Amino acid sequence: MVNNLYGHISPKKKGRVQSRASLLHKNILAVAEAGCPICHAPLETANHIFFECPFARRFWGAVGFQFPHAADVKLLHGYAAHAAVPPDSASTFTLLCLWNLWKHRNAVVFREQQPCLPLLLHLCRSEARFWRARLPGDQELAEAAWLGCLTENIASV
Ligand SMILES: [Zn+2]
Repeated sequence: MVNNLYGHISPKKKGRVQSRASLLHKNILAVAEAGCPICHAPLETANHIFFECPFARRFWGAVGFQFPHAADVKLLHGYAAHAAVPPDSASTFTLLCLWNLWKHRNAVVFREQQPCLPLLLHLCRSEARFWRARLPGDQELAEAAWLGCLTENIASV
């Protein structure tokens, strides 16, 4: 699961994230339609969705991730894991967050939902148990660490 999900945004599978920039490149969307549905930046790339969008930045800040300022999905494997998460569950936690950020973006695009950081954090917490089940052994401590990250800064959201 971990490798498959990372694979969707890895450089070897360029364009797998169906961002609006990708759809523009495939002539599915026009330039005027290629902007971010959340912040209205002129071009929604995969990097924009996951790292550059102010909404994504607020999300990572609330969760406590420390990505580089110019983070790039192509370099995701090289970024440090969340310091508060046990190392053997860190990549799964990162994927849980990425997956829910992607699903939230899709809810904005396809269901005309308003961007909502508390809702996104809630969805991550709701799915933590299911994602924990993918880890080997008893990962109760991992889930507790994940939930701590997803709850700790909610007052500042
Ligand atoms: Zn944006």
